[in-house]
Formats: sequence, structure tokens, C-alpha cells
Amino acid sequence: MKIIRKSDPVNLRRTVDQGTVEQRKIVQSIIQDVKENGDQAVLSYTERFDGVKLVDYKVTSEEFEEAYDSLDGEYVQILKEAADNIRAFHEKQSTKSWFDTQSNGTILGQKITPIDAAGVYVPGGTAAYPSSVFMNIIPAQVAGVERIVMVTPPGKDGKVPAGVLLSAHILGVEDVYKVGGAQAVAALAYGTESIQAVDKITGPGNVFVALAKREVFGDVDIDMIAGPSEIAVLADDTAEAAEVAGDLLSQAEHDARSSSVLVTTSSSLAEQVQSEVEKQLADLPREEIARKSVEDYGMIILCETWDEAVDTINEIAPEHLEIITEDPFQELGKIKHAGAIFLGPYSSEPVGDYFAGPNHVLPTNGTARFSSPLNVDDFVKKSSVISYSAQAMKENADKIARFARLEGLEAHARAVEIRKERWKS
Ligand code: NAD
Repeated sequence: MKIIRKSDPVNLRRTVDQGTVEQRKIVQSIIQDVKENGDQAVLSYTERFDGVKLVDYKVTSEEFEEAYDSLDGEYVQILKEAADNIRAFHEKQSTKSWFDTQSNGTILGQKITPIDAAGVYVPGGTAAYPSSVFMNIIPAQVAGVERIVMVTPPGKDGKVPAGVLLSAHILGVEDVYKVGGAQAVAALAYGTESIQAVDKITGPGNVFVALAKREVFGDVDIDMIAGPSEIAVLADDTAEAAEVAGDLLSQAEHDARSSSVLVTTSSSLAEQVQSEVEKQLADLPREEIARKSVEDYGMIILCETWDEAVDTINEIAPEHLEIITEDPFQELGKIKHAGAIFLGPYSSEPVGDYFAGPNHVLPTNGTARFSSPLNVDDFVKKSSVISYSAQAMKENADKIARFARLEGLEAHARAVEIRKERWKS
């Protein structure tokens, strides 16, 4: 992992992967095909890309049971405890409708309604992601979404990892389909004979999934376009180098394009972390991915002053930020942009990935400048409520009509003025 000075020319901001022209074309044609041919198209792409010929792709109750039986009880307990923590955290996020009555009798308010149906994409591939199941579904459930559909690609054996199925089962979600990639996103957005269309699609995935979500946005809502994982650690001399290195590698192992950055003013910590990263990399099962990530996107930024270090963090706007300093809470107020902030030496990033409760679907690529972690509000929408009183209409009709005429909208003005007839007799 290279050590650089803040003054060295370095690009701290990454951009969203737009895919290649070829990939965009593939995704567009898959979406069109699923729109036109429904299940038949879905099943043919599953055969082509996932290497398995399925007839029916809805997960059956026998498959849920098989998943449950294949996992040991202790693991099931851990999953349940994690789900409880995640639910408890998200319950605190719920917002309520409100109504405000004014002295003239007008009532103004905001009515909160959950979306009708949410679709959750759980990525497949080499790893299984039960945590993605929890992090996407629980906020939707807390928001009160009635219908939740989950999609995830099958393996070559036509199966879905047991942990993923079990996680859905723990949450009581049974509407689960074995389909991945752009065809899964298209099926969720437009519906097929098997899958009823949803209103919002959330969940991470590879470039085909991300491009498909971008493509269907507008017809349905999406959560975000997630980039590769990122971690930035802001640390002083009180940090343990081995722990910092471990946390940096926890993100580096996700993806060769993940980024892990240490920002510090301590040259001794910088050097120790550099050698610890090398040491720990050597016996990581995912060494190859982690090493590439560290070499291409990892860095230790050595700053002249603490203010410069804090500014660097805000410039990066990292997905995950760890603050390991003598008094991390003192730094918290200075941080403007970060998806999730982990304070102190015991708040290692994986604590948040799986267990603590806050959501692990977080803004990447510097988008923490303007967006937030996935949360309950993502699954509700707000309707404004206006009940104008007679008195308010009497007092304000002329002002409103005048305003309308300023905009050249005569029918607007008359719609209000016609009410004045009520007071004429
Ligand atoms: P995936 O489920 O995202 O994609 C698999 C699907 O991609 C297949 O079903 C197939 O339909 C489609 N596909 C593959 N090759 C294709 C091709 N040539 N043309 C068209 N479609 C094709 O699984 P994955 O590929 O293993 O990727 C998982 C991704 O999810 C990784 O990028 C990982 O970093 C990301 N992830 C992110 C988080 C997070 O929280 N940010 C969590 C877990 C996973």
C-alpha cells in the first residue's frame, strides 16, 4: 500500500461505472425481451448466463425447508439476532404523518404511505449474501410495504445458497425467484407471468444489474447505483496498526476495485500499517482480490495537520469511515460527508456490515455528499394534505388569483374567484 503526502497530486473522487457501450446495449435488449416475452425470456437468459435450465423459478416451500435443515442451529440463531438488531435500529427511523391546524381552521399536513411493492435484488456469484437480504428487506418491512419480492441468481445446480433462502424465510418473505442480472431487474420492473411488477427495486449487483436499474428508473424507483466498497480510516497514534490494517483489508477483499484509505498525521502509524497490510495480505483466502484492490486503489495519505486530515476525509466522502483517535466523538462534528461513521477502536467496519443494526447499503463514489444509507424513508412516500377553511379562502382568494394571473393562468385565477360567489348573497 503506497504512502503519499496530501500535497501529492492524487484523485480522491471516484466516478460511477457507466459500463461499456456494449454492456448497455446488452442490458437494453434483455429488458426489451423480458418486457415482450416475460417468463420465456427470463428462463432463456438464466440458461445462457447462469448455466441452468429451469422450468419454474419460484422458490418452493420444500426448498425453504431444505435450506433450513442444512444449516446448523447456531448459525440460524446468529442470523436471527442480527435481524433483530437491524429491525430495532430501523424502527427508530420511522416517521409519522402530521397535521397542523391553523387558527383560521385550515389544516395542512403530510401523509406518509408505504409503497405498495418492493423488489430486492440479492447478488449471487461466488459469495452468498444473507446480510444483503436483511439490509434491503427489513427497512421495507418496517416502512409497512405489503408485498416484497426477492430475486437472486441460481447456481449451476439450480439452487440458491441456503443462507440467502433462510434469511428471507426468517423475515417471512416467501415470494422469492431464482433469477439474476438484467433479466431479474426487468422482471421486477415490468412483471412477467410469474413475477408481479413492483414499484421500487433495491439491492446491489454487478454491472449488468446496475445498468438495468439505471435503465428502468423512472418506470420504477431504485435505491442507488452502488459502486465498489470503500473504507477510509482517520487515525492518530492511539490506533493499533494491526487493527487498522485488518479493517482496510476487510473492504479490499470485496472487489479488486474496492478502495481502502488510511488518513493520518502520524508517519509511524503510516509505516506500521503499510507493513501490517503486507503481512496480513499474505494469508488471506481472497488475497488476490485484496492485493489488487490495495495496489490499485489503496493508499495511506500522510497529512501535515489534523485539519488537513479531516478535510481529506470530507473530500473523499467515503462509504465507510472509521475514526480511531484519542477522542473520536470530538471529530464527529467535523465530518460532513460519510455513509456510515464508526467511532473508536472496537467499531470495526464488519460490525456494521452484519450485526450492529444500521444499514450497510451506503452511498459510494463520493455520493455521501448528497445521499444517505438505505433507510425506512426509502420505502415510503409523502402526500401533502391541504384542507383550506372558508375563512382562509375568504382572506386569500384575491392574492391567489393575482398570483395566478402573474403567471398568465386565467383558469387558475377564476377557479379561486368563483368561490367568492359564496359570500355574495
Ligand atoms: P450478480 O448477482 O450481481 O450477477 C449475476 C448475474 O449477472 C447473472 O445472473 C447474469 O444474469 C448476469 N450476467 C453475468 N454475465 C453476463 C453477461 N455477460 N451478459 C449479461 N448478463 C450477465 O452476481 P456477481 O456477478 O457475482 O456480482 C455481485 C456483485 O455484487 C459484486 O460486484 C459485488 O461487489 C456486489 N455486492 C455489493 C454489495 C454491497 O453492499 N455494495 C454486497 C454484496 C455484493
